[in-house]
Amino acid sequence: MSSSSAAIRNKLERLRESIRRYDYAYYVLDDPDVPDAEYDRALRELQALEEQYPDLVAPDSPTQRVGIRPETEFREVRHLVPMLSLDNAFSDTELSDFDRRVRDKLQRAGVVTEEVEYVAEPKLDGAAVSLIYEKGVLACGATRGDGRQGEDITHNLRTIAAVPLRLRGRTPPVRLEVRGEVFMPKAGFEEYNRGALKRGDKAFVNPRNAAAGSLRQLDARLTARRPLDVFFYGLGFCEGMSVPKSQREILGLLYELGFKTCPEWKVTVGFLGCLAYYDNIRVKREKLPYEIDGVVYKVNSGHLQDILGSVSRAPRWAIAHKFPAQEELTVIRNIEFQVGRTGALTPVARLAPVFVGGVTVSNATLHNMDEITRKDVRIGDTVIVRRAGDVIPEVVKVVVARRPPRARRVRLPKACPVCGSDVIRAEAEAVARCVGGLYCAAQRKEAILHFASRKAMDIEGVGKKLVDQLVEQDLVKNPADLYELTQSQLEGLERMGEKSAVNIVSALENSKETTLPRFLYALGIREVGEATALALAEHFASLDELMSAGEDDLTTVPDVGPIVAAHVRAFFQERHNQDVIMELLNHGVHWPREQPTSASANAILAGKTFVLTGALESLTRDEAKERLIALGAKVTGSVSKSTDVVVAGENPGSKLDKARELGIETWDEARLLSTLPRGT
Ligand code: NAD
Repeated sequence: MSSSSAAIRNKLERLRESIRRYDYAYYVLDDPDVPDAEYDRALRELQALEEQYPDLVAPDSPTQRVGIRPETEFREVRHLVPMLSLDNAFSDTELSDFDRRVRDKLQRAGVVTEEVEYVAEPKLDGAAVSLIYEKGVLACGATRGDGRQGEDITHNLRTIAAVPLRLRGRTPPVRLEVRGEVFMPKAGFEEYNRGALKRGDKAFVNPRNAAAGSLRQLDARLTARRPLDVFFYGLGFCEGMSVPKSQREILGLLYELGFKTCPEWKVTVGFLGCLAYYDNIRVKREKLPYEIDGVVYKVNSGHLQDILGSVSRAPRWAIAHKFPAQEELTVIRNIEFQVGRTGALTPVARLAPVFVGGVTVSNATLHNMDEITRKDVRIGDTVIVRRAGDVIPEVVKVVVARRPPRARRVRLPKACPVCGSDVIRAEAEAVARCVGGLYCAAQRKEAILHFASRKAMDIEGVGKKLVDQLVEQDLVKNPADLYELTQSQLEGLERMGEKSAVNIVSALENSKETTLPRFLYALGIREVGEATALALAEHFASLDELMSAGEDDLTTVPDVGPIVAAHVRAFFQERHNQDVIMELLNHGVHWPREQPTSASANAILAGKTFVLTGALESLTRDEAKERLIALGAKVTGSVSKSTDVVVAGENPGSKLDKARELGIETWDEARLLSTLPRGT
């Protein structure tokens, strides 16, 4: 054996070994070690090498099989028809290659087709299951396992409401095997993980592993408590019934028999039809209530599928077109602490820049010290970062196997990194805070930014860059100082022309005419958001009355509990805050004496809980929210049984689906506008 062939054998073996390790963590422990992107790179490298050296392909190579053989306490189930995986396309070119391969093979078999008809479906990110119905009754349910042998999880599948125990229709087939994907909807996944953390249990890394892990519980009562759902997309074995002639008919039949199918499927024609579907689903992805990681195209005709056949791992008539990865590997270069408006210290990971979720990411939040300890994140670690949609990138997990010997733990600083004041962490609170208050430049900046923000005093042009300069040059120490700024002072700042300076002075002047709820919100009292500010303004006849209210008085305000009451009281008792309020009033900040009161609340809206979704045309969601609240309604962010009305604008998201599911009243924008009294 030459040294180069020994090197190739070595390389092949190393790749296979890594993939086997990844497979074990992913399929057996339901707790992957590396992101899918890393796994896919390793598998592709192995595939390319094996293609180059076909003699070195081993029958047990991960390229030759599906998943891994289950070694579990569950009974084994031999699949009557193998459950295969899918080949992947990671780019448009790879998809076009697939379409060409399909057409070429069909042509060689004498089938002339200009364009192939495909059924396109979302690629659901869950766990594949097979269900066998005997004479219409659920007899057995299994995981995919290694494709030939899976695990008997019938007892667990029975706990999923969407799994029919009996087929619909009068004459059931003797035996029918249906296939689908069990998944954990996004909302259920988040709720489950929040609960797990509270109980001190381990959280799942992603909804896919959550679904697979939940299905493989020995105690079905545990599975029953997990929010699982399922969509069906295929048939396996069929006896006593003719097999439908196309994928489209299969989906139709499944639906008739009482199986849930994903409503997003569509028949498309040719490569371009597939691409159009892909683009459309990619846009919709964020709004779907379940995770998908790409789309699957299947040649529609069963006859053509038979001609195309399968290779050992996957059919030749289908392909998964994957979305760009939302999880990637990178290295933590440093961990720094950022100080927020209320002094909260948030650890932030400074990362080696990495392209993930469509952008280059170089920072990720680590939330708080508990999170750092729980995930055992250290400087120098290789980690999985996740960026999904517009959500702030986060560190999902450390790849412990790649930890360098000198990886460093971080400690909570004793002194604020910005102002040097003490950092304290109240017992039972996850958050540590700098006690510097407005002495701390970081808190000052954030407080001023909050004061000027749109929902507060709405001072246009006062953004982060300007506030940084104003605080750093000591021109502004508290929000009241903003009103002393002169045009010439502003003009002296970086990137500030005469016009911008004039605009800011006039924006400041305009902002003086405000409302009491906005003013209270702008003060940035801890735990006082827009709704609480409004409730306080409604309850007390004047600012003076509110400022002198005791905690007992405060807790009589709707939605104000003892914690909020204590924060409000402490804020107004603080001498410095009293001075700032006085200065603001002296500068001419004012509001109409008549505040909206409960008495003016609209009888239809008062006390009702609203959820707004989608884009409204004639007003922003914030404006609609403000008006609804002013009329005595409550506006919340998520749909639940206690929601009274969901207002749906253009492109409503999953909230509308949920409302329909729960039978909650839905309004369009016109209905909302006709209900809101003029001038509110
Ligand atoms: P896959 O998930 O890429 O594709 C096949 C599966 O897709 C099917 O078994 C089925 O469960 C599912 N599917 C979803 N929607 C479908 C639909 N509409 N029609 C048909 N099937 C649908 O392949 P796989 O073999 O399950 O797993 C391989 C993938 O898993 C890898 O590409 C990798 O991304 C990931 N993986 C990751 C690790 C890791 O360590 N991170 C380890 C092993 C596997």
